[in-house]
Amino acid sequence: MQLKENQYYIGNVPVLDICREFGTPVYVYDGNTIVEKLHILQEAFSGVPVKIKYAAKALTNISVLKLLKKEGAGLDTVSIQESRIGLMAGFAPEDIMYTPNCVSFDEIEEAVELGLGINLDNIPMLEHLGKKYGSTVPCAIRLNPHIVAGGNTKIQVGHKYSKFGISVEQMPQVMEVVHKYKLTINGLHIHTGSDIKEADVFLQTASILFDLAMQFPHLKFINFGGGFKVPYKPGDHTTNMKELGRKLSDAFLGFCKRYGKTLEMWFEPGKFLVSEAGYLLVQTNVVKQTPTTVFVGVNSGMNHLIRPMMYDAYHDIVNVSNPDGAPKEYNVVGYICETDTIGANRTLDEVREGDILAIKNAGAYGFSMSSNYNSRLRPAEVLVYQGQAKLIRRREVLDDLLKNQVEANF
Ligand SMILES: *Cc1c(COP(=O)(O)O)cnc(C)c1O
Repeated sequence: MQLKENQYYIGNVPVLDICREFGTPVYVYDGNTIVEKLHILQEAFSGVPVKIKYAAKALTNISVLKLLKKEGAGLDTVSIQESRIGLMAGFAPEDIMYTPNCVSFDEIEEAVELGLGINLDNIPMLEHLGKKYGSTVPCAIRLNPHIVAGGNTKIQVGHKYSKFGISVEQMPQVMEVVHKYKLTINGLHIHTGSDIKEADVFLQTASILFDLAMQFPHLKFINFGGGFKVPYKPGDHTTNMKELGRKLSDAFLGFCKRYGKTLEMWFEPGKFLVSEAGYLLVQTNVVKQTPTTVFVGVNSGMNHLIRPMMYDAYHDIVNVSNPDGAPKEYNVVGYICETDTIGANRTLDEVREGDILAIKNAGAYGFSMSSNYNSRLRPAEVLVYQGQAKLIRRREVLDDLLKNQVEANF
């Protein structure tokens, strides 16, 4: 979002025009930013055969998936439905890596039938796969490296107490199953968490993967996961992609020499690709002075963007419709009947009833985690690309809340 001559723009389209055309609340994604981020990754790792598998759960709108597909990304999915949407977006089954956690074997069979890449993170499902398919269906293994990494405890998933991945301490049991069924292990994977800024975490992960990889002769790729840190406020430290690209590529090429074959290097970023591209545009319903503070109550809340309440996530907020206003301090809150703080103690250009606020970093885990709590309707989604703003999801209507309800007559 840029400010030019007192007007905010998202990819050359005035933000207030978008609100006039599509209404609020509305999620807006800047397609150019998404493409730019993908290219940053592709370039940082251009010295190795890199594949970027977008973690679809961050933002699953099919128009966004199609855009990423066109720019050469693959997909990382966590459910069958997400995978099917990926197929509808045009991804080839083999470009989709299905990485579920705690699903039934039925769902894994469905993924095999669809021809997806399979990535398993527990020994019982490896057994099931071996029993049913033997060596004929290759699969990757998600490992748990016992590394504490990530922005906060709720998004750290690579530590010893996490439900994700097979513990590196359980390698003997893994090898037993692999040998028993002659499983074809085609990849190794570690995803340790989200908001990881240190290149060292990835290098630490890499050295664990490289050592374990020597036991698997059929590998085609090593998957280093996602979780790159993105900036949430001005001056925030983020993953230094160039540095990571250089260091990790060097280490990887060294490993490939040891392994005797050049493998593919995979990443599965969600946030990095779409977080900064997204904005949740909301309108101010009320400015409420209390004895202790001034609340700005907006026509959205934790039903549309749950990250502040769920993860204490920080989302920068800008008053788009009063860029000349005198800065004042506010608590920006949603309309949900729960504690529903979007931004506490924020300095904004003076907010008046009716003002439009832009909540930043709303591309990842925004709409995809939204709900109908309080029987509120979910917002529309708009994609701005090549100078045009286009609707990519209609705003919900009352009927959407009722369409699956069945009236039981007792
Ligand atoms: C959610 C998830 C990601 C993406 O994480 P980001 O922090 O959005 O980059 C990557 N891999 C797996 C397996 C995931 O579950």
